[in-house]
Amino acid sequence: MVWVVFDKERVKVTSGEISLYQSSAKLQRGFCGKCGSNMSIHTEKCFDLPIGVLENPDDIEITQHIWTKRALKHVKLDDDLPKYSEFAPD
Ligand SMILES: [Zn+2]
Repeated sequence: MVWVVFDKERVKVTSGEISLYQSSAKLQRGFCGKCGSNMSIHTEKCFDLPIGVLENPDDIEITQHIWTKRALKHVKLDDDLPKYSEFAPD
């Protein structure tokens, strides 16, 4: 699954409600309370969304790639953006 990581302040839920599950001390997982679909990941600073839930994913300006060590073999990241095998450094 491809996730888009946003600064928490930049995301606004405009309809419906995300149900939350505290999956670890610092992380909550969001899901649809009606059908159980995986919706989001919430941390202190970030609001992550699977790219498939966005209406216009091509409108997102990607600034970096993280967790590239988990990319599937057929995924080629041939742009000039910073790439990190795990999390980006602070
Ligand atoms: Zn649903």
